[in-house]
Amino acid sequence: VKTLIDNLDYIVTDAGVLEHHSILIDDDRIAALQPAGSGAEARPGSAGGAAPDDIARVIPGEGRAAVAGLKNAHTHAAMTLLRGYGDDMRLQPWLENLIWPAEGKLTAADVYWGTRLAAVEMIRSGTTFAHDMYFYPAEVVRAFGDSGLRAAVGLALFDFGDADTRRGQQQIVESFLTEYGAGAEGAGGDRVFLTMAPHSIYTCSGELLQWAADVAAEQGLVYHTHMNETRDEVEQSLAAHGLRPFAYLEKLGVLERAAGGMIAAHTIWLDEQEMDLIAGHGVTVAHNPASNMKLASGCFPWRELHERGVQMMLAPDGVASNNSLDMFDEMKLAALLQKHHYGDPTRLSAEETLAIATGARSSVFAANGVGGALSEGAPADLVLVDLTAPRMTPTHSLVSNLVYAADSSVVDTVICGGEVLMEDGTVSEEELVRSEATRCAHELVSRARSE
Ligand SMILES: [Zn+2]
Repeated sequence: VKTLIDNLDYIVTDAGVLEHHSILIDDDRIAALQPAGSGAEARPGSAGGAAPDDIARVIPGEGRAAVAGLKNAHTHAAMTLLRGYGDDMRLQPWLENLIWPAEGKLTAADVYWGTRLAAVEMIRSGTTFAHDMYFYPAEVVRAFGDSGLRAAVGLALFDFGDADTRRGQQQIVESFLTEYGAGAEGAGGDRVFLTMAPHSIYTCSGELLQWAADVAAEQGLVYHTHMNETRDEVEQSLAAHGLRPFAYLEKLGVLERAAGGMIAAHTIWLDEQEMDLIAGHGVTVAHNPASNMKLASGCFPWRELHERGVQMMLAPDGVASNNSLDMFDEMKLAALLQKHHYGDPTRLSAEETLAIATGARSSVFAANGVGGALSEGAPADLVLVDLTAPRMTPTHSLVSNLVYAADSSVVDTVICGGEVLMEDGTVSEEELVRSEATRCAHELVSRARSE
C-alpha cells in the first residue's frame, strides 16, 4: 500500500532541509523523497515512482513540515498513573514514602492502561518510539502493540543481592523471552521487541548483572540500565566495590558482553576514565534533562561525551519525575541546560539536539528497525507539524523553531511504520484510554494510601 504526503513545505533530513518535496511511503518504508510536482505519476517506473492508481491515499503537505519521529530512549511508561503524585521532594523519601508503596499495589490492568495513556501522550507529542523499563512486561507489550507505536520493552530487574529473588526474576524473564521473544508470535506485532533491563548496579547483584549480560548477548537483546545518575550512587559504588560504576561493569565483564548493545540512562557523574570506557565499548547514553533538573541530580556532560564520539539519545524518564513525556520539552531543556550550566551559549546547537532526539546519533536499535533521520529506505516513522501555528511563524530556521519554539500543540499527524496513528489532531481510542487510566490511577492511589 502506498501513501503520498504531497507537496510539503519542508522535510528535515540528515543532509539538510528540503523545500517543496513530497514523501512516498510504500508499506512501512519511505520509498522516495521527491520534488513536489514531479509527482509519483510523472515518473512511472522510476525508483520509488508509482502510478496514480497505485497510491491508496494522499495526505496534503501544504503548510506542513515533516520531521523524523522523536525517539524516547528511556522511560517507565505506566508511571503516567502517578503523574503529580508527590513532587518537590528529595529522591530517597520520594521513592520510599510515595513511589515504591504505590508501585507495590500495581495490577496488570494498571500497567496496561497506564502504558496506553503514555502512548497517547507520546503520539500527541511527536514520539514514534519508546524504550520502556517497567513491571508486567506482557501488558506493556500488549499496550504498545494496541497503540501502534514502535517500542522496546524490558522487565525492570532487581534482586537487592538476594539469591531467591534473583532466581525468581530470572525465571520470569526466561518465560517472558520464550513467550514474546524473537521468533515468537508476540501480542505486540512487529513493531514491539524485547530488551534486558537490570535496573542499576545498586539494586542488582553482580551475578544478576552478569546473567543479564549473558542472556542479552546470546539473544541479541539491548541491555538497558540506569548509570551514574547521582553523586551518592558513585560514592556507594566506590565504597562497595572500590570502583566507579562503569569500571565495576567492566570488571564484571558486562561492558564487553553487551558491546554495542547497551543503553545507559542518565550518565551524569562520570570521570574521564568512565567516559573512555563508554566510548570504547560503544555504549549509548540516554540523556534525561527534565528528570535530572527536577530531582537536582546534576548536569549531563554533553560536550565531553560528544568529543569522544559517544552515541547518545534523549528521553523524558518516567512521568513521576518529569511530569510529561513531551520530547519537544526535552529538546529545549537539553540545549538550555548545557548553555546554562556551563555558561556557554554555543554548547549543544539546535541541529545537534534534533539529531539526538530523532535517534540519528545512535545505532543501538538499528537492528530492531528503529530509524534515525528521514531518508529513502528508512522506516516510515514521521511527524507532520503545522507551520501555520503562531509559534512556528516565521520560518527563518525550521530546525530552530522545532527545538526552541515548538511544543506538542504543533504536531498534527503522526505516522509509525507507515500507519497513521494521529491525523489532523485525532488519536483513536483516546477517550477510552483517558477514562480507563483515570479510573486505574484513582484506585491505585487509594489502595496505596489505605496501607
Ligand atoms: Zn529511569
